[in-house]
Amino acid sequence: MNLYRIRTEIIKIGKKLRERGFIVATEGNISFRVAADKFLVTASGVDKGELTEEDVILIDRTGKPVMLGRKVSTEIKLHLKVYEKRPDIQAIIHAHPPYCISLMCAGYGLDKPLLPESVVMLGKVPIAPYATPSTEMVPESIVPYITRTDCILLDRHGSLTAGQSLSEAFLKLEIMENAAKIYWQALQIGSIRELSPQEVQILMQLRSQTYKLNWPIIPFFEE
Ligand SMILES: [Zn+2]
Repeated sequence: MNLYRIRTEIIKIGKKLRERGFIVATEGNISFRVAADKFLVTASGVDKGELTEEDVILIDRTGKPVMLGRKVSTEIKLHLKVYEKRPDIQAIIHAHPPYCISLMCAGYGLDKPLLPESVVMLGKVPIAPYATPSTEMVPESIVPYITRTDCILLDRHGSLTAGQSLSEAFLKLEIMENAAKIYWQALQIGSIRELSPQEVQILMQLRSQTYKLNWPIIPFFEE
């Protein structure tokens, strides 16, 4: 695998996260599985919008850097838990998208079928219970959900999106934050009009038959 190319792509994703306001300061982290037990991850305590090649560190499955010298964020344990539970996952982004977090702080989530795009791409997004940052509670909090979906909200903390590629993980994050923004704006105006079970069913058929999207999602209505 071409580590240089992946490092370059991680740097690009870091810039996009910062530009879109999905992270501020030194928040968030990005990772990519380069071999069964080797991962490229972003360094701790750096602005992910200004990453250099040295800020993208090769680690093993325990989270230890292969070459010592740089500090890896404790949040990387969250990524390692996903890679352990989901051998099909290649890339992970953890961010702090403000509309998603605002909804959770106000007691809302992305658990209603509001927009066709988010129904097809994300399904019902679960909220992992609040976990104290930097503790083992954070990776443990996602265990009940990660085998069922690639998109999880972390209660009053942030988001986790995973995929076959970095761009796929980013796309899911972008759709999730946009859905949260639209939901938040609609809540300012008044009551919410959800898509009906029939409308959702048609979208689910399109998802599998036309779009052929193969990543798991939690359906809004159990069959
Ligand atoms: Zn975080």
